[in-house]
Amino acid sequence: MADTIEMYIDGRWHGAESGARLPVFNPSTGEQCDTVPAGGAADIDRAVVAARRALSGEWAGLKPADRARMLSAAAAGIRARSEDLAALLVEENGKPVAHAPAEVESAARYTEYYAGLADKIAGSALDLGAEIVDFVRREPLGVTAHIIPWNYPLDVFCRSVAPALAAGNSCVVKPSPETARATLAMVAAFEAAGIPVGVLNVVSGDGPTAGAALSAHPDIDGIVFTGSAETGKAVLRAAAENITPVISLELGSKCPSIVFRGPDDLDGPVGEAVGNLLWNCGQSCGQRSRVYVGRDSYDRYVQRLAEGAAGIRVGRADDPGTVMGPLASAAQHEKVLSMIESGRKEGARLVAGGGRPGGAPEGGYFVEPTVFADCRQEMEIVREEIFGPVLAVLPVDDFEEALALANDSPYSLSAAVWTRDLALAHRAIRALDVGHLTINGSDAFGFEVPFGGNRKSGFGREGGPAAILQYTKEKNVWMRG
Ligand code: NAD
Repeated sequence: MADTIEMYIDGRWHGAESGARLPVFNPSTGEQCDTVPAGGAADIDRAVVAARRALSGEWAGLKPADRARMLSAAAAGIRARSEDLAALLVEENGKPVAHAPAEVESAARYTEYYAGLADKIAGSALDLGAEIVDFVRREPLGVTAHIIPWNYPLDVFCRSVAPALAAGNSCVVKPSPETARATLAMVAAFEAAGIPVGVLNVVSGDGPTAGAALSAHPDIDGIVFTGSAETGKAVLRAAAENITPVISLELGSKCPSIVFRGPDDLDGPVGEAVGNLLWNCGQSCGQRSRVYVGRDSYDRYVQRLAEGAAGIRVGRADDPGTVMGPLASAAQHEKVLSMIESGRKEGARLVAGGGRPGGAPEGGYFVEPTVFADCRQEMEIVREEIFGPVLAVLPVDDFEEALALANDSPYSLSAAVWTRDLALAHRAIRALDVGHLTINGSDAFGFEVPFGGNRKSGFGREGGPAAILQYTKEKNVWMRG
């Protein structure tokens, strides 16, 4: 691959047909660090044509076990490039150098997980009487389109592209321009693993141009979209024009955490909340950003969380001592600061953070880890996705009130419950309307388990064994003799 980052279409690395490029900024400094090709409709079309052609070439003749071997090699290639990929994430996405390798590992893990499932996709057979054979084959959908956000660019790429390839599809991927360099550098691992020409195509470009062209393309057989609810609606509308199946929409969230532990039993829930502030600077769809705490433990919880937030070391992403880096973009920085202002105006009690950290590098997109206590359900900071290091804490009288408030949101992705009472845990399992629930811990966000939401958080599930079937379609065969 050349030094200048190029797009990967039809097995070749090149710039946009228009020759245009988009700037890439370093969130730690606010300065431009590079450019990526500004792919447009013509580039998307070339990629879709290449992907369609590839479906009837060498790829179609491979056995599932061959695809499994290629994907295993791609996973190994991602791991071998870990240092370089992590360095790109640090520079263009603001992930701290201490955390960026975890995302690369996550991408490798998705790829190896679905490599293992490539040769385990089975159909079924039905007895319809003597001399009749009826069976169901599972075939690839065809050309699948993947639109990827900037917050976990490598992880989210592999969680849908790996099962799509494992099932025998060809793919056209549109990463966020902010993180297209890391994405394209990772794609070199798939190329080196021998994925045939045209099977995997990656077009960098902005959403309204390249993203819109991909979701509106008439010759794709399925779309996977991860991003905001607003863009999700645009993708659905575009897909409707061509009756293109939307495989999954993984959208925004406002995930609740419910804490019903004694005042001396708060290490786990406070630790999780501090992690929710600092990890990826709070830019995670699974972030538990509103916390409902039983009154018995409320004061102690707020005090401990405020102390934990104040102890988070914020700094440049490339500083090995940094625990929380900058937000990923100037737009995100502005949005988070305006939501903090909204919390203040609506009368929430600020107990930690609330502005730019003192001594933060000039120009960088830094925000202090921020905690608001005594919030009310109707406040904007409790209802709207902030996507930053900001938590809202609310006192509740009893567990039923916590469940009702947790469910009172247009979003429905993930939730956490902290309790030693088994009866309460069982009650929460039934009552909470989410796609993903963790009880007394939170270490299961992918690979082996399904992840996805309901209502305005979208539909479909990624991760786990069933997700690969979304990239297949059933063909029933009835045969006499
Ligand atoms: P976004 O919606 O702005 O962009 C997502 C992708 O869509 C980008 O590649 C963008 O270029 C593209 N896009 C923008 N406009 C488009 C259009 N008109 N047509 C087609 N594509 C278009 O979201 P973002 O800011 O990149 O990501 C943050 C959002 O993603 C948050 O809401 C977050 O909760 C969500 N997210 C959800 C999950 C999940 O699994 N549920 C995971 C990660 C992020």
